[in-house]
Amino acid sequence: MKEYLNNIIFKTISQIIGERDQQAFVIGGFVRDKLLGRPSKDIDVVTIGSGIELATETASRLMKNPKVTTYRNFGTAMFRYRGVDVEFVGARRESYNRNSRKPVVENGTLEDDQRRRDFTINALAIDLHPDRFGQLVDPFDGLSDLRNGIIRTPLEPDTTYSDDPLRMLRAIRFANQLDFRIIDESLEAITRNKERIRIISMERVSEELNKIMLTDKPSIGIKLLQKTGLLEIVFPQLEALKGVDVVDGCKHKDNFYHTMEVLDNVCRNSDNLWLRWAALLHDIGKPATKKYIKGTGWTFHGHEYIGSKMVQGVFKNLKLPMNEKMKYVQKMVALHMRPIVLVEETVTDSAVRRLLFEAGDDIDDLMLLCDADITSKNPEKVSRYLDNYQLVRRKLVEVEEKDRVRNWQPPISGEVIIETFALPPCPAIGNIKSAIKDAILDGVIENNYEAAYQFMLQKGKELGLTPKV
Ligand code: ATP
Repeated sequence: MKEYLNNIIFKTISQIIGERDQQAFVIGGFVRDKLLGRPSKDIDVVTIGSGIELATETASRLMKNPKVTTYRNFGTAMFRYRGVDVEFVGARRESYNRNSRKPVVENGTLEDDQRRRDFTINALAIDLHPDRFGQLVDPFDGLSDLRNGIIRTPLEPDTTYSDDPLRMLRAIRFANQLDFRIIDESLEAITRNKERIRIISMERVSEELNKIMLTDKPSIGIKLLQKTGLLEIVFPQLEALKGVDVVDGCKHKDNFYHTMEVLDNVCRNSDNLWLRWAALLHDIGKPATKKYIKGTGWTFHGHEYIGSKMVQGVFKNLKLPMNEKMKYVQKMVALHMRPIVLVEETVTDSAVRRLLFEAGDDIDDLMLLCDADITSKNPEKVSRYLDNYQLVRRKLVEVEEKDRVRNWQPPISGEVIIETFALPPCPAIGNIKSAIKDAILDGVIENNYEAAYQFMLQKGKELGLTPKV
């Protein structure tokens, strides 16, 4: 273990606690990640005594002008040194009451502190005292769980999860991130305690959800959320995709499992969190639009529009950012069916131009989403559909080279229309403007100022307007 501690921060702490014969340990995520050979981020140090005091002394030996942030209420202090956050806390014992995840805290021993940690793999501590430097302190067999890839709680799981229900999401997130297995009794305890998740703020829930979304294969975490019943509580719209209806012996695919495949497919090709969200939500409008039509079968007509309208509600519930990220997801969901029609041989340039105009710079992401949406089990079909989308991509490039409509703005602005016809604010302005845009996108007129100006005059005439001389 010592090689991981070959760092001036640990050496300084060791020196200080040696001089005072105090106890301090590095604990939690840092130890876990080092033992797993994963990149580690922040350092957590627990000491028997005052964390604030040890932080202040360590920082002043490391830096000329140390800046230590202290949280007196929590008895913690932290500083940043060479890009690493180092946090200090006095060892504590916690007891919880049912309505809050905020415990009553008392000073405690190292073992008390390890007991209050969420998982055995997060309770591993390494001694920093010079006499025992580098020794692992592992009362709950965290090392063997780490080796066997197991998520287990140090205490009886019902207690750990009920005390702080956020740990249920953390268990699933760690299982997903580390590719570990949550032991059965823990998974059963999560299912039993699922309702407790309601005391956790949605900001915290979505922080964990986003960590799941950023793993290599988020379907693992989301399926665990579903299996334990947490999904139904925190994200009912996604739960609603689950299930298959059968009418006249005709069934549709299970849209939840389809979505999981699409999401994993996107994740193989993109790290963009919001494209991943678009994959998760691309079919969210299906339950609301599902219809069985005799002779035709199941249809989900307009699910992309309904779905795109639902995005805002989902973002609002989950306290995700209601900004341009949300607009991007809305756009992806709304447009995800459009490239399919462009596969046709006979497709006109105008249909291609319209999609380029609406998708703008996000067209490449949209095509990644469409590729990911191919989840047929028949490899021959998959490769044919993927080839089709390559063809669409070529059409998009050709039309863009010719017409440059990606990020394009129509050549006649609202102001020109107002001035030409001396108009007060009125609907005619918007109508003329969109008629010009449509005429250019449909190839009725050329994409230049003069053609658009003449077209504007003609449209004005049709509306009974005369140009101001
Ligand atoms: P990551 O940085 O990937 O989230 P981490 O384990 O470092 O992993 P932190 O949230 O930084 O996570 O927490 C640091 C340590 O604090 C954890 O390793 C764990 O020992 C403890 N911990 C964090 N949150 C909880 C919690 N809700 N309940 C109990 N212990 C926790």
